[in-house]
Amino acid sequence: SAKSAGRGQYRVFSEDMHRSLSARVQTEQELRAALAEDELTLFYQPVLRLADMTVVGAEALVRWQHPQRGLVLPEAFIGVAEATGLSAALGERVLRLAGADLVDTLAATPLQWISINVSARQLRSAAFARSLHGLLLTKGVTPARLKLELSETTLMQNGRPDHAALERLGHLGVGLAVDDFGTGWSSMAYLKQVPVDSLKVDQSFVQSLPAEANDRAITTAVLAMARALGISVIAEGIDSAEQLTFLRALGCEYGQGFLLGRPMPAAQLASWLAGRPAPQPP
Ligand code: C2E
Ligand code: MG
Ligand code: MG
Ligand code: MG
Repeated sequence: SAKSAGRGQYRVFSEDMHRSLSARVQTEQELRAALAEDELTLFYQPVLRLADMTVVGAEALVRWQHPQRGLVLPEAFIGVAEATGLSAALGERVLRLAGADLVDTLAATPLQWISINVSARQLRSAAFARSLHGLLLTKGVTPARLKLELSETTLMQNGRPDHAALERLGHLGVGLAVDDFGTGWSSMAYLKQVPVDSLKVDQSFVQSLPAEANDRAITTAVLAMARALGISVIAEGIDSAEQLTFLRALGCEYGQGFLLGRPMPAAQLASWLAGRPAPQPP
């Protein structure tokens, strides 16, 4: 523990903390500039119906086109945004970019919907709900063409689903998906109380399919439960043919992963979709 550690160790610890603190401060300053300079962009990863391998939707994943560091993944800056109060601005930017892509670059594609990832703060923010409402009205976006991805931890507040926030967004008619399902340590009882239309089975369960007996059991059980509740399932992180074959055999409706399509810029997704062969028979 920190108390039992000697002086030397304590100093090392505090230097590390200082280094990571200044790295965070630097990231915060750069992120502020990035928002001002329009360096954030969205990549889209296709979501396929596994029975016939048609593309039904796409998940928007934020990227930071950094002038020196190149393309930066969200893991390097989402946490900083959340911790520094920049998450609202980042969330607004993502919403605006997704709205523009929906009516512009992606409008002529057969995509039924795109999804965006929403943080806990955004879910609880009345300003975000207003922006979303405003976007649907001004851009003329059909609400069902937009889904919000919320992780279990985001959905929950003090161990209960945040009904007020979910209802505020649900009333707008947008889809709601539970992201990283199975990783949140939360009860599943909330699923019958909240208006979610899909579950995204976390990639940690998909990764070791079909070899791991535990992951097979969990995935099978989640699929059965979701079916009984009338909720659709998207398996995340499919990156091998064996995983795909197993999930198709189980009747998993939708899937997403590097095997099926990598995240890519909107324009690239549009041409990728246009170049795909006609749907295969099941
Ligand atoms: P997520 O929403 O669970 O997104 C899935 C992540 O898994 C993406 O990473 C995606 O590139 C990656 N992935 C997809 N298929 C595969 C696969 O077959 N194998 C492997 N190993 N990975 C795969 P990414 O883009 O780095 O995003 C990471 C996380 O950052 C997201 O997890 C989401 O929680 C967060 N995030 C992304 N965009 C946004 C955003 O606009 N706002 C907020 N608040 N969070 C975001
Ligand atoms: Mg997601
Ligand atoms: Mg996920
Ligand atoms: Mg994840």
